[in-house]
Amino acid sequence: AEIVEGYLAKHPGATIVTRFPPEPNGYLHIGHAKSICLNFGLARTFGGNCHLRMDDTNPTKEEVEYVDSIQQDVRWLGFQWHGPTRYASGYFDQIYAYAVQLITQGDAYVCDLTQDEIGAMRGTPTEPARPSPFRERSVAENLDLFARMKAGEFADGVKTVRAKIDLASPNMHMRDPVIYRIRHAHHHQTGDAWCVYPMYDYAHCLSDAIEGITHSICTLEFEVHRPLYDWILQKLNTFPSHQYEFSRLHLTYTVMSKRKLLELVKDNHVAGWDDPRLPTISGLRRRGLPAAALRRFCEVIGVTKFNGVTDYAVLENAVRESLNKTAPRFMAVFHPLKVVLTNWPADRVDMIESDINPEDPSAGSRQTLFARELFIERDDFLENPPKKFFRLSPGGEVRLRHGYVIRCDEVVKDAEGNITELRCTCDLETKSGTPGADAKKVKGVIHWVPAVQAVKTEVRLYDRLFTVPEPDSDKERDFKEFLNPDSLKTVPVLLEPAAAQHLAKVFAQGGGDGFAPEVRCQFERVGYFMLDPKDNVPGKPLVFNRIVTLKDSWAKESAKA
Ligand code: ATP
Ligand code: MG
Repeated sequence: AEIVEGYLAKHPGATIVTRFPPEPNGYLHIGHAKSICLNFGLARTFGGNCHLRMDDTNPTKEEVEYVDSIQQDVRWLGFQWHGPTRYASGYFDQIYAYAVQLITQGDAYVCDLTQDEIGAMRGTPTEPARPSPFRERSVAENLDLFARMKAGEFADGVKTVRAKIDLASPNMHMRDPVIYRIRHAHHHQTGDAWCVYPMYDYAHCLSDAIEGITHSICTLEFEVHRPLYDWILQKLNTFPSHQYEFSRLHLTYTVMSKRKLLELVKDNHVAGWDDPRLPTISGLRRRGLPAAALRRFCEVIGVTKFNGVTDYAVLENAVRESLNKTAPRFMAVFHPLKVVLTNWPADRVDMIESDINPEDPSAGSRQTLFARELFIERDDFLENPPKKFFRLSPGGEVRLRHGYVIRCDEVVKDAEGNITELRCTCDLETKSGTPGADAKKVKGVIHWVPAVQAVKTEVRLYDRLFTVPEPDSDKERDFKEFLNPDSLKTVPVLLEPAAAQHLAKVFAQGGGDGFAPEVRCQFERVGYFMLDPKDNVPGKPLVFNRIVTLKDSWAKESAKA
């Protein structure tokens, strides 16, 4: 922001123009979200524009499917780019003409060395490169050869165009870098129109200049490319775009490179690019993370020049913070233990009104159904409780949330000694929400569902995809060795009937703006969940994805499951 303010001080009245320039060779991930928030955020803050540009100079790895997903993800994050979606390939004519200009000026030449030969002659940082035998070709010969390269006369790799800069530069990127190569390949935008394609470094700065980008923001590893960026724009006397660098986002317990994500998808280690365990934007969306939480996360981690690793828990906390205020709360039981209220008439059913979210009165209320037979969570009961166990135990009392206080009178077991049922007494004076309900002080409050009316659902418990914080830090080992075999468990869960009705109704209303519905809730005392946007069908049991546990207790939760 300070950089932009400085720029505006020097160029009063100027419009800030930024861009988000993904290569469409995979789905976007949370690292890209950081870049998106930064670029679109700056444009928004300073009343400027942000472009979306596909950096599509490498036809062999790119696909239209990726272009579509990128646009969808940016929109879902809450940003709209200025003007149409742009493509570096849309500038191929201009970029080619600029190369002709460089050749004409004597600033570039056609070289017949192979990639390997160029590499072998590159020298070391302290030792200059050896000149290519083709470095001193005449302008006329270079122009002729470049035209014939474009016309398709030569095979892949036989010739390149190289910028003629400085073979002794301590910066290896300045030692006559290749700017054009031959690739007889079909391109998803330009079809078969081209068989010469510009290299990334050369095309990127020119695309920026063509679009009048004032602030070209990229990640730190491009800092050493900046002299080349400046050299090209200076030689061609274009719009003076300028590059600024910031640190890449690294997150623990995951991998972020598109190459590795593609490997996980292609080898079926996950169920597609939108698998809720992946750090892709579409995966996080399907998992249930709200776009606002992702934006908040990007804000919290900030923009620095220092490469660090961000703890996955920081992301989870941003999600909890956002959902605490917005998610309706219901009760669901994961490991049911039956409770029979012996003093409750068999046919009596109470409806108890309670808030959907105490943090958000506008969410309204629901009717919780209370009956003689209930399920509680198996580990909310202990036959031989330690001190300070405030949940249920023989002879002890506990409050059923949004219900009554009950006392456990009898533990029923099967032949093997497993507890099958608790027989309890309900204190009828303690109905939640009625005057005097809290007169009786009990320490514990537990959740429950009515046994007969509870709704059966399926819950997918997602866990971290890797068992170690930095699965790809050891170059000697394959990151896939560290995949967490327990990253997904599917369990049946019983849900209170009001919740099932409410959530199914909201889901049926659909999502906004072409997106799938995002129906989230909190299961009290357990965590946040979202109805899977793809696998929920009317008339079938509800399917939930676990977004995140309520506290940093996922280890405990998954051990239970
Ligand atoms: P990957 O290495 O994951 O394939 P990339 O840098 O090759 O990523 P691009 O499609 O070229 O992916 O990136 C588009 C933009 O997103 C670039 O400006 C890049 O700097 C930024 N970006 C990519 N990864 C990260 C990250 N982890 N943190 C922040 N910004 C990122
Ligand atoms: Mg890339």
